[in-house]
Amino acid sequence: MVRPAIGLEVHLHLKTRTKMFCGCELAYGDAPNTHVCPVCLGLPGSLPVANREAVEKGLLLALALGCAIPERTQFHRKNYFYPDLPKNYQISQYDRPIGTNGALLLGEKRVRIRRIHLEEDAGKSLHPEGADATLVDLNRAGAPLVELVTEPDLESPEEAREFLRRLQAVARTLGVSDASPEEGKMRADVNVSLRGPDGKLGTKVEIKNLNSFKSVQRALEYEIERQRKILERGGVVEQATLGFDEKSGKTFVMRTKETESDYRYFPEPDLVPFAIARDWLEALKAQMPELPAERADRYVAAGVRRYDAEILAYDLELAPFFDEALKTGADPQKLANWLNADVKGYLTQRGVALSATGLTPENLARLVRLVESGTITGRVAKEILPEVMEGADPERIVEERGLKAVTDEGALRELVAKVVAENPKVVEQIKAGKTKAINALLGQVMKATRGTAPPDLVRRLLEEAIGG
Ligand SMILES: [Zn+2]
Repeated sequence: MVRPAIGLEVHLHLKTRTKMFCGCELAYGDAPNTHVCPVCLGLPGSLPVANREAVEKGLLLALALGCAIPERTQFHRKNYFYPDLPKNYQISQYDRPIGTNGALLLGEKRVRIRRIHLEEDAGKSLHPEGADATLVDLNRAGAPLVELVTEPDLESPEEAREFLRRLQAVARTLGVSDASPEEGKMRADVNVSLRGPDGKLGTKVEIKNLNSFKSVQRALEYEIERQRKILERGGVVEQATLGFDEKSGKTFVMRTKETESDYRYFPEPDLVPFAIARDWLEALKAQMPELPAERADRYVAAGVRRYDAEILAYDLELAPFFDEALKTGADPQKLANWLNADVKGYLTQRGVALSATGLTPENLARLVRLVESGTITGRVAKEILPEVMEGADPERIVEERGLKAVTDEGALRELVAKVVAENPKVVEQIKAGKTKAINALLGQVMKATRGTAPPDLVRRLLEEAIGG
């Protein structure tokens, strides 16, 4: 079986007031070319000045991902012609990025981050329908970006998607980027090659400009299959840069790849290299909020299984809710189970946000306690969840509708005896060794009690009534 080796290149729009090298405000959605100046228009004689806020936000992300931060950093010119890049070069970083050798954890797996660097975005070309012209909007030209490059440590399309989701959570927690793919503020290029039986990596193919996490997963699934088929035929995968067609779900060749020398990188002469003072870094570290990875550790320490802890910690909607629910003193693992399974299921099914429901941390804790204390069965709890999600107090529902668990063993014993007497065939099957048939009887008792009979107790009583 050939294992894929997947690497990602992610661009995040930094959430700053102004552009990377000029004072133009960042304004998404404003009229075209209303936020431009001589610097971002690339007019002769204009000089760039690095945006301190952008550098700080880039550094925060690098620190959060455990990168090594160099003593000095520097900007380079990356030369290429693009109609929406007026200077004909992009100011980027080359051999002195702001961060190197970081990592993001996916459970036990450490996905290495090779580098993080700062650069500026290009403008946008618009192709009005029916018009024989291309228009250019330079509002985005010069917008600050951070580019992050991973090592090819990811081994499946799902892992690549999960990496992006977690990176998004980190960026949003830090407040350095909205990281919203739907607004173009988070874009990913992926590279993928298949490892042969000898463990060696095959030819690397790059897929450019994927604008949603789902596209990343789909494009990778398609491309891995395509390469696998070529290799199985004994063919050779050609090095290329591919695009991904959302409609057909297929990749297509855009161009054979430029080599690095095509870009003619050279130091940006208008921006001197600058030192990153250690006390500046310390000050940035001091303002860092609790990161999702730290939050996951805190949940584990509180008694939540690692798997559930990570799902919650990287879900920026559920995590604050879970924190409030923890304060009630209800069982942490039980709360996590409800949130990750039933509550999430409810939200996904209806396509609503948690904040749009009436669920409160207190009511969820009450529900957990009702089950824990044996006051209601798990089945009743699941049944009343939709009402609790609409804001109802679970204790009141249970009280009003008499949904408390049956604790009167005598009454249950009678009901069990009746069900056993009415189903001689099933009883015979059970006695003949088909022990699973007992579930049919269990179901009947549960139905007769509207789910209020504790299943373990009913099972024991059934076994006693049927005997050996
Ligand atoms: Zn400008």
